[in-house]
Amino acid sequence: MKKIPRIYCASIATETNTFSPLRTNINNFKETFYAKPKEHPKTPTLCSAIFPQLRKRKKKGEIKLVEGTATWAEPGGLINSKTWNYLKNEILSEVKKAGKLDIVILGLHGAMISNNCIDCEGDLIKNIRNILGPKVIIGVTFDPHSHLSKKCEINTNIITVFKEFPHTDFVETAEDCINLSIKAFDKIIKPQISTFDVKMMTILPTSKEPMRSFVDHLKNLEKNKTALSISIIHGFMAGDSPDLGAKIIIITDNNKKNGDKLSSQLGMKLFSLRKDLAPKTFSANKSILEAKKLFKKNKKPILIADIWDNPGGGVAGDSTILIKKAISMNLKKIAVSSIWDPEAVKICHEAGEKANINLKFGGKFSSSSGSSINKKVLVKKIVKNAFQKFETSYVPMGDSACISFEGIEIILNSNRCQTFSTDVFTSLGIDISNKKILIIKSTNHFYKSFVSHVSKIIYSSVNGIYPNNPKKNKYSKLKRKIWPIVKNPHYKKN
Ligand SMILES: [Zn+2]
Repeated sequence: MKKIPRIYCASIATETNTFSPLRTNINNFKETFYAKPKEHPKTPTLCSAIFPQLRKRKKKGEIKLVEGTATWAEPGGLINSKTWNYLKNEILSEVKKAGKLDIVILGLHGAMISNNCIDCEGDLIKNIRNILGPKVIIGVTFDPHSHLSKKCEINTNIITVFKEFPHTDFVETAEDCINLSIKAFDKIIKPQISTFDVKMMTILPTSKEPMRSFVDHLKNLEKNKTALSISIIHGFMAGDSPDLGAKIIIITDNNKKNGDKLSSQLGMKLFSLRKDLAPKTFSANKSILEAKKLFKKNKKPILIADIWDNPGGGVAGDSTILIKKAISMNLKKIAVSSIWDPEAVKICHEAGEKANINLKFGGKFSSSSGSSINKKVLVKKIVKNAFQKFETSYVPMGDSACISFEGIEIILNSNRCQTFSTDVFTSLGIDISNKKILIIKSTNHFYKSFVSHVSKIIYSSVNGIYPNNPKKNKYSKLKRKIWPIVKNPHYKKN
């Protein structure tokens, strides 16, 4: 009779911007998302999609499930040592108490760095491996904006990574990881992991070419059974890690030689596309001028994405630079989502809807985020515990407010978060179809939700707090040569 595997699952995730003046502690995890064993909600978060997927299998009687802790903090600065030790030990003690396990499935981010640990995921996985021994299958899902270390690679059996950016495929990624891990347990496959260091750091949105076709090609290779799984780590440029940069991960069925060959072929192909991967960007001034010009020819609004002041990359999300440019050009019919300013939100909630108040908001966190704006504003709408949807997951925005002045409407929120979807605007009472320009804080996760509502997307590269140029970023842990810091890191002297 077929043996039913006993599976433990857990999820700890955040993305650490080591250059950010913010810090991450246990409260940041508890405020954003923290579910004790068996308390995970029905809907997934990005990295915890393994929970609902595993529950479905448990319901069908395919597995026995021991649920562990699941937590997620909005990307921020270094995790403090006490917090990392606490979270790690929580998972390790759950593993120890779980009894005999056949499989461990972890939903991790892959870019967590704490004061006392440069490779949190590698540290966690290695500790679990040490507790359970070599026979237990360990399957892990990662976000592509991560640093793949050797420690992670050698201590896992299965690694799957979101292929899409925006990460719309987090449920499929979880399902792939679970499916392959169970097949490995059933001895239907003998997974072997091959990796290739692409030695490159840039941004790789899959909503545009050439990345769109590259990812479709990977999916076809999987469909044709060239490999069991193919993933790309994009890298996360704001994390000072020795493993920084893009990597290819191939899982073959006991054919490491083929996996090594395929990973190097795909890796070098990706490297050859390096100069075309990132979207074309405009300066703050040019972004506003371009939007002003374009709107005259189009009926739908122009969207300006403030790609670096993205709380999803670990910064505050309170830059006022683009808004001030728009004010200086006397532009109207503009909507902004969102400025992180818990104090200003509190004042709006205290004043109530329809109140006219003098408000100082935004630009408070860093001198490079522009100065605060002082205006007499109308508090148009206030919402307690607002949220937005990203695919099947709910993203908490905290108490929020919509303020209005001089033809500009701005959403203020109290939980740092990027703009994922148009429902940020609708839930705060803004009809975007009436607007000329939308300014949002996000690098590319907004794309799928917004693309049909706007006539043009402008990616705005506003220099500020985010370390957006690997050539200029002061990495102290990165010792490998990667592009664009060096021109050809793959060049070898004979
Ligand atoms: Zn990501």
